[in-house]
Amino acid sequence: MGKLEGKVAIITGAAQGIGAATAQLFVNEGAFVVLTDIQDDKGKEVAKSLGEKAVYIHHDVSSRKEWEHVLNETEKLFGYVSVLVNNAGIVIQKPLEKYSDEDFHKLYMVNQFGVYLGMMVTYPSMENVGGGSIINISSTSGFRGKAGLMGYNASKFAVRGMTKSAALDFASKNIRVNSVHPGFINTPMTLDHISDEYKEKAMKDTPLGRGGEPEEVAKTILFLACDDSSFSTGSEFITDGGRLA
Ligand code: NAP
Repeated sequence: MGKLEGKVAIITGAAQGIGAATAQLFVNEGAFVVLTDIQDDKGKEVAKSLGEKAVYIHHDVSSRKEWEHVLNETEKLFGYVSVLVNNAGIVIQKPLEKYSDEDFHKLYMVNQFGVYLGMMVTYPSMENVGGGSIINISSTSGFRGKAGLMGYNASKFAVRGMTKSAALDFASKNIRVNSVHPGFINTPMTLDHISDEYKEKAMKDTPLGRGGEPEEVAKTILFLACDDSSFSTGSEFITDGGRLA
């Protein structure tokens, strides 16, 4: 019997990277999984490879209308939601003096507002099944400032704080809310959007001396999604090769 047997999960940003690895692990553990993203071709391909317990739905996390659509479709296909992984995120790396208002606003809308919408739209579904688990993906950038990442830092600190408020507000509904803080993970986000200079610095700054794999973060997310973490809420779970130690 899998750790998520029969549970229904929504994972955002699941066309690649940490989200795709988490979807794979959840299906292996018996869950029905709705993968959402804005990269439709990739997302459909990943869902197809996972078999009939997985479907892909197009979804921009910054849109309430699209969140409502995802929830309605999920309930029609699989039933009420027990697990939400707010994973979709973007990074914009540039020195503060080169930031535009649009850069800051975009980071806010996807990384922070998208997480707020996810929690707000899905919690009533969780109430219908007596509770659930929400996992918000922050970062080590939710603990510590990094040059060139001002808007990203702001959004990831916010996710950490929002997680704690939501955990307190939802505790009486038996909905647990925790945040995950990956360090440098080998995904398209870091491979395509981060400078070589930053990557080199990140490796030097990581005691285990390597980037993490998305599957290693997925295991932390699974722990929080299932009953193994039944007494954890409002907490931070760090998967960073020792970077914050
Ligand atoms: P990734 O490889 O870039 O995957 C994220 C997915 O989210 C991409 O398919 C991306 O599409 C999609 N996305 C972007 N904007 C979206 C939107 N508005 N609505 C829905 N989906 C959207 O990223 P990852 O490395 O797996 O990261 C996953 C999460 O972990 C993020 O929240 C990230 O901040 C966090 N994290 C990652 C690392 C790391 O080192 N990789 C470290 C700490 C925290 P596009 O590619 O088209 O943007």
